[in-house]
Amino acid sequence: MKEAATIQKGINVYAVRKQFPILNREVKGKPLVYFDNAATSQKPQQVIDALVNYYSNYNANIHRGIHTLAEEATAAYEATRDAVQKFMHAALREEIIFTRGTTEGINLVAYTWGRQHVKEGDEIIISGMEHHSNIVPWQVLCGEKKAVLKIIPITEEGELDLEAYKKLLTSKTKIVSVVHASNSLGTVNPVKEIIKAAHEAGAVVVIDGAQSTVHLDIDVQKMDCDFFVCSAHKLYGPTGVGVLYGKKKLLESMPVFQGGGEMIKEVTFEKTTFNDLPYKYEAGTPNIADVIAFKAALDFIQKTGKENIRLHEDELLQYATEQLQQIPSLKIIGTAKEKVSVVSFVIDKVHPQDIGILLDNQGIAVRTGHHCTQPVMDRFCIPGTARASFAVYNTKEEIDALIKGLHKTIKMLS
Ligand code: PLP
Repeated sequence: MKEAATIQKGINVYAVRKQFPILNREVKGKPLVYFDNAATSQKPQQVIDALVNYYSNYNANIHRGIHTLAEEATAAYEATRDAVQKFMHAALREEIIFTRGTTEGINLVAYTWGRQHVKEGDEIIISGMEHHSNIVPWQVLCGEKKAVLKIIPITEEGELDLEAYKKLLTSKTKIVSVVHASNSLGTVNPVKEIIKAAHEAGAVVVIDGAQSTVHLDIDVQKMDCDFFVCSAHKLYGPTGVGVLYGKKKLLESMPVFQGGGEMIKEVTFEKTTFNDLPYKYEAGTPNIADVIAFKAALDFIQKTGKENIRLHEDELLQYATEQLQQIPSLKIIGTAKEKVSVVSFVIDKVHPQDIGILLDNQGIAVRTGHHCTQPVMDRFCIPGTARASFAVYNTKEEIDALIKGLHKTIKMLS
C-alpha cells in the first residue's frame, strides 16, 4: 500500500494499519480487505499483548485473593471499569456491569427489570430495525407476561418514523428498547428524542449501542438512557465481553440475574444477602483476561482520537456510497441522512451470497445475508444484502478494490 495515498483526515491510516497484525495476511493469494467490521472488528497488537501479558504474568482469580497475582489481576480488571465509565461518561463506576456482550446485557434487563415490572396488558416498544438480540428477549418476556410488543415502522430511506413512534406510546408502555445505530442499514437513530418521549410516557429506555459505541461519542448522562449495552469485540477489543450501563437507582432496585459466587454478601441455607453494585450482576468468575484486554482497546481508541476516527470513517462512507451508486444494477438499502460507516446493498439478479463468495475469492471480506435483522429484510422485500462496514484501518484503495471486485462479480454472473 502506498503510504502517501493513505494519509487521510486527522489520522495516518498507514500507521494505524501497522498496529493490526492480521491486516498483513493474504486471503486466496490477495491482500486481505476486511470490510466485516460491523460483525467484529480486528484487534490491535496492544489488545493481543494485554491478553498474553495477563496469562503470562499475573493470571489469577479476582476480588477474593489476597496474594500478589490476585491483587494485580483485580486492579487491572477494575481499571477497565474505570476506563469504560470515562468512555461512556457514566456518573458512577458501579453503574458499569461487565457482561458477555450486547445480547447478554439486553437479556439481563429483560429478565430483571422486565420481569419485575411488566404485567399483563403492558406494552414494550422496539423498532423495525432491531437486531434479533433486541427482539427475541422482549418477545419471550411478552409471551410470559401476556404483554404486547409494538414496533416502530421504518421509512423507505431506512429511518424510524418518529411520528408513528410517538403515537405508539401510551400509559401502558413500560419499556422502549431501540438500536442506536443499525447494523444492517447504518442508520443513526435520534435516541435523545426517543428517550425524552419515552420518559414523558413513564417508560424506561434501553439503548442497543452495539454498533454506535465504536463510531459515535457516547454520553449516557446527556443521552439520559436508563440502560445502554455494547460489546467489546466491535470496539477493537476481545470477544466475550460486553457492558451493561444502568442508572444506579434502577440497578439497585432490580432483582438479581444469576446467582453464584461474587454476587453475594452472605449465604446461609435460610437466606442470602446480595452484593453491592456492580458485583450484584457479575456472578461467578468473569472473563478476566478479556475484560483486562478491553482496556487496551479503549486506550487505542482514545489515543487515535474518536473524532479522528469518525472523520475518517465518514470519508470512507461517503466515498464508498458515491462509488457504489455508479454501478447501475446496484441499489443501496439504507439511505438515512445520518449513518455510521455501514453500506448494505443488493444487485439485480445476483444473490447476496454469490457476491460474498466471489468477493472472498478476491480477498475481500463482506457480510451477506439478513445480518440478524430478518424483519428489516422483510420490510424491504429482499432475502438479504451484501454489507461493507468500515473501520479506522480501512482505506479508499480498499474501497476501489471492492468496486473492482463487484464489477468482476457482475460480469461473471450476468
Ligand atoms: N445489536 C446490534 C445492533 C448488533 O449489530 C449486534 C451484533 O452484531 C448485537 C446487537 C449483538 O451483539 P453480540 O453478538 O456481541 O451480543
